[in-house]
Amino acid sequence: MFDKLRRKLTLINVLVTALLLLVFVIGTFVIMQEQLFNQSQQLMQIVATDAGSGSVSDTREHNKHLTKYFYLKTDALGKITESSSDLPLVIDQLAPLVQEIFNRPNSKGEVDFHDETYTYLRVPLKQSPGFVISFVDLKQDREILGKLLISLTIGGLICLVLAYYASRFMADRAMAPIKKSWQRQQDFVADASHELRTPLTVVQVNLELVKGNPDETVASQSKWLDYSLIETERMSKLVGDLLFLARADSQQQTLEMKQFSLDTAMSGVIDSFRTLAETSGILLETSLDSDVTYWGDEFRIKQLLVILLDNALKYTPSGGKVTIGLQKIDSSAEITVSDNGEGIEAEHLSKIFERFYRVDKARSHQKEGTGLGLAIADWIIKSHRGQVEVSSSPGKGTSFVIRLPHQSR
Ligand code: ADP
Repeated sequence: MFDKLRRKLTLINVLVTALLLLVFVIGTFVIMQEQLFNQSQQLMQIVATDAGSGSVSDTREHNKHLTKYFYLKTDALGKITESSSDLPLVIDQLAPLVQEIFNRPNSKGEVDFHDETYTYLRVPLKQSPGFVISFVDLKQDREILGKLLISLTIGGLICLVLAYYASRFMADRAMAPIKKSWQRQQDFVADASHELRTPLTVVQVNLELVKGNPDETVASQSKWLDYSLIETERMSKLVGDLLFLARADSQQQTLEMKQFSLDTAMSGVIDSFRTLAETSGILLETSLDSDVTYWGDEFRIKQLLVILLDNALKYTPSGGKVTIGLQKIDSSAEITVSDNGEGIEAEHLSKIFERFYRVDKARSHQKEGTGLGLAIADWIIKSHRGQVEVSSSPGKGTSFVIRLPHQSR
């Protein structure tokens, strides 16, 4: 699939480059042609004017330069009376040519003789009846244009080959994030299916046990039914988390921004955890600055704190301590959730925000969780343009510091 896409991207890039090169080659050629033509025309005009006024009689000096030119003077009937000294042919051979030019209605144009093409200009003489005809050899111009075309074509082809490799490189680079997100999506679906399979199996096994004893009362089979219920709740939470992240991925997860008291919102969440902390034998300590107003999505910020507190209590053994802080620093709010629980090894720290990542799978599975909590927390923090820093040492505890910048309405 990606190979085909890469080929397509490369082809489009090469085609666009080829088109631009073609425009460049044609443009340069046409401009050059135009310039050479104008130069010849100007030269012809100068030669005709100078020869007509008698200020130039010998073109040998000038013909050392690039363009070969000469002039002829005729009487009113077209008989050659005078010429420049540097002629390409003898006068007798030029006579029929002059007659041909004389018979032409246009005073300027092109003539071919002896395998060469000349451009000519016929101007009446001022002092006496007759004409001066100036000729400029186009051979040199054509040679220059020919060489230019060859150089441009070779240059263009080299550029096209380079463009092909550059396009392949660019296509690879452009596809890297697409590949990554496709792979992420694949992993996400695989992990989600895997996580859903376990509770579904448990529910199925327990319901089959109940079904196998049709004469038993509901009360006597409540153990199996309770297991099913617990797993159904687990699944329901998992599906909710999956839906949240799927919406976040497709930019459909919106925030309801409003001004609210952050310390009051946090106190509410902390209070809801007090009973759990007490029954788990964990001390909950708080240090919240008062009157911290914040512009953000109150529901999501509370959800963030729930995730962090839930983890802190989950991964801290009985007798441990969890500290929650809120500080107003300049215009930002800094939330800290620290515990002195089991901690996280350094190699896992950068990965805990990944979806379905659980540090020690075997150990984590004894504790409830989906491995999606911190991925959701990360989205909430980023969508509030905040930053999170985690520091942890195994056996000593973990600390999450979240900096939420002030947001304007
Ligand atoms: P889970 O549902 O497993 O808690 P999370 O995404 O919330 O998923 O966390 C990912 C992993 O990060 C957890 O499985 C756990 O291993 C580790 N973790 C998160 N918070 C803490 C903490 N306070 N102390 C120790 N480990 C933690």
